[in-house]
Amino acid sequence: LKAEFVSNVSHELKTPLTLIRMFGETLESGLVVDEAKRKEFSGIIRKESERLTHLINNVLDFSKMDAGRKEYRFENTDLVEVVRSTLEAYAFHIRDLGFDIESHFPTEPIYTQVDNDAISQAILNVLSNAIKYSDTEKHIELGVVQRGSMATISVEDRGVGIPKESLVRIFDKFYRVPNDKTRGTRGTGLGLTLTKHIIEAHHGSIEVESTIGKGSTFTITLPVQTGATT
Ligand code: ADP
Repeated sequence: LKAEFVSNVSHELKTPLTLIRMFGETLESGLVVDEAKRKEFSGIIRKESERLTHLINNVLDFSKMDAGRKEYRFENTDLVEVVRSTLEAYAFHIRDLGFDIESHFPTEPIYTQVDNDAISQAILNVLSNAIKYSDTEKHIELGVVQRGSMATISVEDRGVGIPKESLVRIFDKFYRVPNDKTRGTRGTGLGLTLTKHIIEAHHGSIEVESTIGKGSTFTITLPVQTGATT
């Protein structure tokens, strides 16, 4: 798995770097005069840089986590707002890829002790998998609810699904499901490992239900800050 990871990471690093260099050189040559084309190429450079940043953040966080050095800054936070703003930052991009997003947020805040950035990263990892592992049915449902002393965040897709025998392994480091969809999709097998670590550091849990060909639902459960009003 480690050898496969090294090969995945080098591929993951090389692809965006090649695209950035190629489109950068093309723009620099001055041969592209069409304004729409120049915009398109600049957009590719920006998106590929963002992909690189996300990948590097995941790998760096993962090595901190693996060495037991990942630190969290817990603050009294409205979880609804964290999920909403994470979704808002990416909603345009997700819709641009042809997805419908159905979101269910409570009207009242749900106060939790969380590291805002870490929770946002965890949600983003699950959300980006829902996108990566969907085929023709591009529909994502995202919900936040409070049940007693727990809050749950669910992300449901209508994608390729996960085989039963892989369900227990997808949170293992470097693990990727050996199917065509995963082989054809960029990834390192670290996203869910990190997500699980983040959620457990918050005394929460993450679960998955999935049916092949129908889709998957990831449910994150976090404890609610009791007695807090601000
Ligand atoms: P990756 O970088 O490969 O996406 P993750 O740790 O995020 O790594 O996920 C591990 C594996 O679990 C993926 O490679 C994929 O095979 C599978 N997987 C994760 N999320 C989904 C999903 N929503 N639908 C289908 N398969 C998924």
